[in-house]
Amino acid sequence: MYMPRISTKKCKQCGECIDVCPTDVFEVEEEKTVVANPADCIGCESCISVCPEEAITLDEI
Ligand code: SF4
Ligand code: SF4
Repeated sequence: MYMPRISTKKCKQCGECIDVCPTDVFEVEEEKTVVANPADCIGCESCISVCPEEAITLDEI
């Protein structure tokens, strides 16, 4: 299993990770991009590649 995390300090709410994630792990809640469905992550790393702020980390758990 994988656990993606978003640094709230680094994230600029661009929405790129939401657009690129094939399994809809990210959502906007109260105007912040959050990891809403971590269990759906397949570890493809697309979100890491696309994030312009290097705000996303991915741990294998
Ligand atoms: S690693 Fe892939 S599946 Fe997991 S959150 Fe990022 S884009 Fe989505
Ligand atoms: S791609 Fe990066 S900066 Fe953009 S919303 Fe996602 S985590 Fe935030």
